[in-house]
Amino acid sequence: MKGLKLECAKCGREYQYSLGLFTCTDCNSLGFTNLLLRDPEGMLLEKDESEHRKTPCYKIPGLNRALGIPELYIKDETFNRFGTMKDRRSDVLVRLAQHHGFSKIFCVTGGNLGNSLAEFAGKVGIGCVALAPKDIPKKILEKLEKRATLTKVETLFDPSQVWTAERVVENFPDSLDGTANNPCSTRAYTKIAAELSELNPELIVVPLGSGELFCGICQGIEETGMRAKVIGVSVCDKNPVGLALRHGIDEVALEGTFEERAANKIAVHFTPLMPIIMHFISKGHMFAEISDRQMQDAIFEYQPYFEQAIEPSSLSVFAALEKLPLQEKGKKIVCVLTGRNHTSEPLGHR
Ligand SMILES: [Zn+2]
Repeated sequence: MKGLKLECAKCGREYQYSLGLFTCTDCNSLGFTNLLLRDPEGMLLEKDESEHRKTPCYKIPGLNRALGIPELYIKDETFNRFGTMKDRRSDVLVRLAQHHGFSKIFCVTGGNLGNSLAEFAGKVGIGCVALAPKDIPKKILEKLEKRATLTKVETLFDPSQVWTAERVVENFPDSLDGTANNPCSTRAYTKIAAELSELNPELIVVPLGSGELFCGICQGIEETGMRAKVIGVSVCDKNPVGLALRHGIDEVALEGTFEERAANKIAVHFTPLMPIIMHFISKGHMFAEISDRQMQDAIFEYQPYFEQAIEPSSLSVFAALEKLPLQEKGKKIVCVLTGRNHTSEPLGHR
């Protein structure tokens, strides 16, 4: 793909795009991704910018009153093909796999990502190799078992499940690395920023997770010249980003296994994107921590504003919005509703 470039988030060094090149080793160790994918010709993203191809963005008056934020908009990613923002990245990764002639794509998933990727890959005859925790919702598990080669693990929140680029290549040499290691995985989310450029919000609030959405939107903001700052929301002490910020380092993986159920829906043990997350935080984008308790309360409190079950991690952003200082609450804010939750639990109940 000749039009693609990779650029080190830290030193700005440019590289010709090459499959498997994820790190500028002048700046970070192998295993951490610090290269941003530049795609000036739009080779990886669909060029169609027409209105009906965008996910909707709307206000929910009752929710806005409850939060005391009159100008809060929901960017509703459940309107993507399989009900999740991850459809955007699946589309990009499948194109990439096709271009490089891979017959399989590897991913580590809590459910939605793997399901979306398997659907997109399946349509063009590419296989999906997925690694998922055994306790994901039954509906998704059944789908994944049907559409992907699935390996079930006890939990993803354990050091044994850190999948560096090197480890993926070693274990799955004939699969495209479809994890956050791959700089192409964040590219799709730049389009969310582009779709919001007309609304021109001052703040965009997203769940942080492994940082793909956060980094993609920050990059999109930079490329479209918007004024917005992004806030990534994560659970206190349950994330490597918090640790990295506190200690000023950008290569962190957590040790030990988490016990809180709510935190497991939002926290990650390791993210290869740490150097890029830190880069964007140094540019004025932000990181907000909430407690496990606040996360659980937010799920209970804000799910009822939505007609369909929403991913718990996505509801965590409302806990952060509650805590915004008063002067910030007057700003035009967008929060990204990342996807549907495939749960059999009744809505709005703990
Ligand atoms: Zn560099």
